[in-house]
Amino acid sequence: MAKESLLQYVCSECGHVESKWNGRCPECGAWNSFVEEKAVPKAKGSSAVSPVMDDSVRKLSDIPIEKSMRISSGMEELDRVLGGGVMRPSSVLVGGEPGIGKSTIMIQMLSHLSSSADVLYVSGEESPSQVRMRADRLGLDSSHISVFCDTRLEALSEAIERVQPGYIVIDSLQTLYSASLPSLAGSPNQVRACCMELSLLSKKIGAAVFFVGHVTKDGNIAGPKIVEHMVDTVLYFEGAESGLRLLRASKNRFGSVDEIGLFIMDSDGLHGVKDPASAFISRRTGNEIPSGIAFTPVIEGSRAFIVEIQALVVPAKGSLQRIYSDRIDSARVSRVAAILERHAGLMLSDQDIYVNVGGGMKLSEVSIELALAIALYSSRMDIPVPMQLAAFGELSLAGEVRPVSFAARRMKALSDMGFTRALTTDSKDGFHVVYDDVHDIKQAIVSAFKARKY
Ligand SMILES: [Zn+2]
Repeated sequence: MAKESLLQYVCSECGHVESKWNGRCPECGAWNSFVEEKAVPKAKGSSAVSPVMDDSVRKLSDIPIEKSMRISSGMEELDRVLGGGVMRPSSVLVGGEPGIGKSTIMIQMLSHLSSSADVLYVSGEESPSQVRMRADRLGLDSSHISVFCDTRLEALSEAIERVQPGYIVIDSLQTLYSASLPSLAGSPNQVRACCMELSLLSKKIGAAVFFVGHVTKDGNIAGPKIVEHMVDTVLYFEGAESGLRLLRASKNRFGSVDEIGLFIMDSDGLHGVKDPASAFISRRTGNEIPSGIAFTPVIEGSRAFIVEIQALVVPAKGSLQRIYSDRIDSARVSRVAAILERHAGLMLSDQDIYVNVGGGMKLSEVSIELALAIALYSSRMDIPVPMQLAAFGELSLAGEVRPVSFAARRMKALSDMGFTRALTTDSKDGFHVVYDDVHDIKQAIVSAFKARKY
């Protein structure tokens, strides 16, 4: 029986398993993401990743309540996305592209936490002296940070058992490997086994463990997605222009997932953004903004931000219209363009459309549709949107403007940021913002570009 050589193919993006190699993953749609792995035999009895648990049956009331505690990471913005601080014990995945600041934020956090507990920084990518240099460059007190530079899971587990740190950072999960598995470091089996083992171990000793996971295009290295189900909290770092960084929770057992953390990357590390409401707006001088720009208030968790939607409409280069939009779903851009064409008589189907969001925030709220339409109109007609005017509302396929949730909070954010006029429907009074109650896209355009030829 050739059980040893049983091969399987695992998608390094999502962990989907197939018995044959596929060019494209049927589960997540990624191309060339399958890697060959020896199937790990389902262990009977003991397994390298079997949970450390007492399997006797007991009365629920006899089970001691696990003590958990929450402590500040030293960074308000990080605390916010974690749901109010670092939970202990817990396991957290911190994903993002290489170089975006994951190691930086982790070492900043450890430096703060090291004043209250033993902390361990596990580096599989940098030598101890490189880690030290990074901490020094950030001006951090590293005297209480222990560092462990070995990528063997067994050695690491042994060290953790011995030191019993309160907080552990694994940088990165993809560099670890267990000798008990035949596959290479970074393969789906290894990444999952190491994550599982260390999560269980940290629960056992009551520690919080943070796994740094690189999001890469390299199909040979498993992405952080494949371990999302194993951890309590999943955070992703998104980068943007001008050093702005967004930290977003996509899963959180201990808090809400709609909060975002905003940071600025400086030479001395990541700092929380002081004035978040305006972080996404570029400061302009003069009394006109360029055409193709419209402002809209968006709600993220407990906060409101004003964002700048930029549109550029140019005659199509090919016979087919193309839409380039990374921050707003292209299907939505296409739909709003069709609504403008049908209900406002604005010819767009022979045009290429480029859409961007200032500051790089990804927008998925329906409330941005009216502002997107205004930006497209402004670019196509080359008429700037008046200063201090913002818009929010959903557009129906019939061209109607629909009210959206949190209208009062959006109006307040506009008022706070010095906007004086808002285009929307069914809004709230009581702010220093006049609002034009617009019921359809045609009315909105007439209202926005008043005194201009429609
Ligand atoms: Zn997949």
